[in-house]
Amino acid sequence: MKKIKFCLVASALIVSITSCKKTEHLAEKNQKISQDVLASISKLGFSTDQVIAKNGGYLVEGDILLTDENLNQQSQSPNLRIADVEQYRTTNLVKVPRTITVSVSNLTEPYSKATDVAIARYNALNLKMKFKRVSSDGDIDIVGFNEGPDGGYITLGSSGFPTNSGDPYAQVLMNTNPDAYGPNPDVQYLASVLVHEVGHCIGFRHTDYMNRAYSCNGRKINEGAADVGSVRIPGTPSKPDAESFMLSCSNGGNRVFNTNDVVALKYLYLK
Ligand SMILES: [Zn+2]
Repeated sequence: MKKIKFCLVASALIVSITSCKKTEHLAEKNQKISQDVLASISKLGFSTDQVIAKNGGYLVEGDILLTDENLNQQSQSPNLRIADVEQYRTTNLVKVPRTITVSVSNLTEPYSKATDVAIARYNALNLKMKFKRVSSDGDIDIVGFNEGPDGGYITLGSSGFPTNSGDPYAQVLMNTNPDAYGPNPDVQYLASVLVHEVGHCIGFRHTDYMNRAYSCNGRKINEGAADVGSVRIPGTPSKPDAESFMLSCSNGGNRVFNTNDVVALKYLYLK
């Protein structure tokens, strides 16, 4: 236990939003994934470095569940290039205008409050996509799971990408293990992770997918697809704007939309 805590502190409180497991563990896990599946994952531009078969799909880059539908499709969505490190690559987008209902199942009060905070952060941008809290059966349901640390990292949450028909991914999983958010989870921290996971649900990939080491530390991992079809948005900085909400790894605290995040969100969902 001490070792794990030390690891998290030693890495400047970088807690993976994902499950950045140790390479040797991953190598073992990767062996169970067929070469065909790994080839499909790579073709879509995702890292094949830590692929885990889970819940009827494949968990990649730590917190993204790729379904069979995802693996068999070719994304036509834009790749917004704002900075050399931060690139807002997307998969399918959600059809707008749209109100997305959000429910919370079997989670304690901090998670429930954090859901309202996350909804408010999105709605403050006045996108053509509105989020609305409902008591059950939301378009996106926030559900708990309990999983301890593995290899010094812990999964904070996970989700997936929109469907081919333009609906958001329907579920966000949030870790209820005390090692994830502590015995008294901070609402703003939880909200930051929820905003990130909902970001995947509406089509956002990690802004540092070209180099996960940018937010996760460790060795450089760059298996992203060729930079084809990038849209560099005029007037935005070319240097990385740190603390993007879609960075692969959490900073262990509150992380709100940065300037580039707002530009990207409005570019995609305010047109
Ligand atoms: Zn993520």
